[in-house]
Amino acid sequence: MICLGIEGTAHTIGIGVVRDNPFGILSNVSSMYRPDSGGIHPRDAANHHASVFVDVLNESIENAGIKFEDIDLIGFSIGPGLGPCLRTAATAARSLSLYLKKPLVGVNHCIAHLEIGRVVTDAHDPVLLYVSGGNTQVIAFLNGRYRVFGETLDIGIGNCLDKFGRGMGIPFPAGPEIEKMAEKGSRYVPLPYSVKGMDVSFSGILTAAEVLSKKERTEDVCFSMQETCFSMLTEVAERAMAHTGKDEILLGGGVAANKRLQDMVREMAEEREASFYCPPRNLLVDNGAMIAWTALLMSKSGVKMSVDETSVRQNFRTDEVEITWRN
Ligand code: AMP
Ligand code: MG
Repeated sequence: MICLGIEGTAHTIGIGVVRDNPFGILSNVSSMYRPDSGGIHPRDAANHHASVFVDVLNESIENAGIKFEDIDLIGFSIGPGLGPCLRTAATAARSLSLYLKKPLVGVNHCIAHLEIGRVVTDAHDPVLLYVSGGNTQVIAFLNGRYRVFGETLDIGIGNCLDKFGRGMGIPFPAGPEIEKMAEKGSRYVPLPYSVKGMDVSFSGILTAAEVLSKKERTEDVCFSMQETCFSMLTEVAERAMAHTGKDEILLGGGVAANKRLQDMVREMAEEREASFYCPPRNLLVDNGAMIAWTALLMSKSGVKMSVDETSVRQNFRTDEVEITWRN
């Protein structure tokens, strides 16, 4: 089967084509909305997605070397995410499905990050540390569901980095630039370490870092932010592994491209004799291929959705999904 997957939960519209047997990512094209100033306005991001959609679609089909008639299934990101962005992607997906007369499956975005990691790495049953702009969750499969073992109580880790960067005049997405600055930092300046049970919180760290940046070197503040936030994430990921008895840790989300975070999590895994897995960068960030692959898993395990059932779900929770393709 060949599935075309559409990702559109936030800043990125991505369209990927995936084949199941043998597994192959035939194409994975995306376009990211970058605001001229300020943060991401959902309506502007949605307008961006609508305006580039046809180009991204045609490029994805062309790169895959297929024709529209070859598509057997359409998958799209049904949630969680920003309402206007979700609706734009869902409308496009419904139109394509009706036009091509092919089934449509709405995919939970967080679960797609986990499933693409499972198929492209050797991870079988990992704890996923999912760190992106809007989402920060520790997810693992237990008793028939993907369950959230810990998450942010306020903003996502990427959002924390991006907002700090914005104050420093670094355009969105600021994460990569902060990583470079942090490499030049050496002095650790204390920031609040906010682990609450299994959950984490970043908004207090952001405020403290903004205050500190007025008197400390920016490089040192970036360094300290990374050390603090990534330690917190590594701690809750490790506790989820201990609790579930799993010996694999998988990274997902754009922030997982950060080498310092990778090193910390890898070291934690090595110390517990567990395996560490990190997909390539183009599959860490939001992308259409992960949606296509998860839609294939769902469809082959019997999931069918009528058009009525494809309304977007802004606050769609990871543990609401019935997992029909694993046991
Ligand atoms: P996503 O929402 O999963 O597509 O990821 C986008 C987020 O990843 C943005 O908040 C970026 O700032 C962040 N990001 C990308 N690369 C890095 C990096 N090398 N270090 C830290 N954050 C990053
Ligand atoms: Mg994501």
